[in-house]
Amino acid sequence: MSLKNKATEDTEEKEALNVNQTSKPFVPSVAQKIWPRAILHLDMDAFYVNVHILDHPEDAGRPLAIGGQPDQRGVVASASYEARKLGIRSAMPMSTAVRLCRDLKIAPANWDRIRSCSQQVMTILDNFGPVEQMSVDEAYVDLSGWDNPEEKAGEIRTAVKTESNLPCSVGLASSKLVAKVASDHDKPEGFTVVRPGEEAAFLAPLPTRAIWGIGPRTAEKLAKLNIHTCEQLALADLGLLQGAFGSQGISLKERARGVDGRTVETDRGLAKSISQEWTFSQDVNDADRLRQQLQKMAAKVAQSLQKRQLVAHTVTVKFRWADFTTFTRQRSLEVGIDDAETIYAIAEAIWAENWPPGQKMRLLGVGVSKIEAPQVRQLGFNFLD
Ligand SMILES: [Mg+2]
Repeated sequence: MSLKNKATEDTEEKEALNVNQTSKPFVPSVAQKIWPRAILHLDMDAFYVNVHILDHPEDAGRPLAIGGQPDQRGVVASASYEARKLGIRSAMPMSTAVRLCRDLKIAPANWDRIRSCSQQVMTILDNFGPVEQMSVDEAYVDLSGWDNPEEKAGEIRTAVKTESNLPCSVGLASSKLVAKVASDHDKPEGFTVVRPGEEAAFLAPLPTRAIWGIGPRTAEKLAKLNIHTCEQLALADLGLLQGAFGSQGISLKERARGVDGRTVETDRGLAKSISQEWTFSQDVNDADRLRQQLQKMAAKVAQSLQKRQLVAHTVTVKFRWADFTTFTRQRSLEVGIDDAETIYAIAEAIWAENWPPGQKMRLLGVGVSKIEAPQVRQLGFNFLD
């Protein structure tokens, strides 16, 4: 990335200067000195909701939920802040959400628009440094190459806001762990900078759950040791932690102080798997209808592969019967594929082998895995031509 090169060039220039003017030794700027590593975490605010509002400004400021209809087993994918105030949360059944707010506005997720907005935001981030996309609305950017990462973080925030017209929150810190907590610290439209050396104090009052890798079970185990906050965890007796968590003890203690060596992994195109699944609003046992759904999902999976210029070697079909019995079946190929017809043909064959005719299905899914970038294929074509 040019950015990184630029920073190196700058440094080399200054160092060269230093060699020539021995009386004036090279001193890095204050910002460089205090930011050995600068990682930004960006998280879009109520992303699906705000993408909807771009096209429906009349829905701004009202309780709004993006997701499926309540009478079709719909689930809340995202709720506006007005809806959240009424207790509506993502992953909640829409029927529950409607009970909490009778005049809740429900809108379907506009996936094409969501994906293109996401792409737009990620492209903006690409201009600032290596990007690791974590989800459709979340990414890390490595800003270590800049003299003044705080200024760059501000520029990112402004660029996203003005170019995409969507609100976001950003956190800047010396590690992924702290940057992520920081972006969540002051939502919506938050901008939280945790300077090197301030990590432990920033995390101290927060519950241990706030830390990457501490789930409900670990938090519960910690609570039994009377450890509730990050400060308590950071100060906890190592022997006590090792007794309860073994070799994990030391890492837990370090994470509570914000120590996290994970780097920003830039090859974000190389997803491990890409999949689509569909829950029918009513159980389906019509073969044509099921095939149609398979075909639609195969097309979407193919599109997703092609957009990222990737190919896959394994196709998986997910089955869920009406009684919730769930299983997957897969088939692998020597050659990498990325086209809808082939993915569908394989998925259909797997489905036909495993579907007893007449069996009612609740959910059907198609996925691909063993994904790679097909440099070899392109070369091969050139040679063949
Ligand atoms: Mg978000």
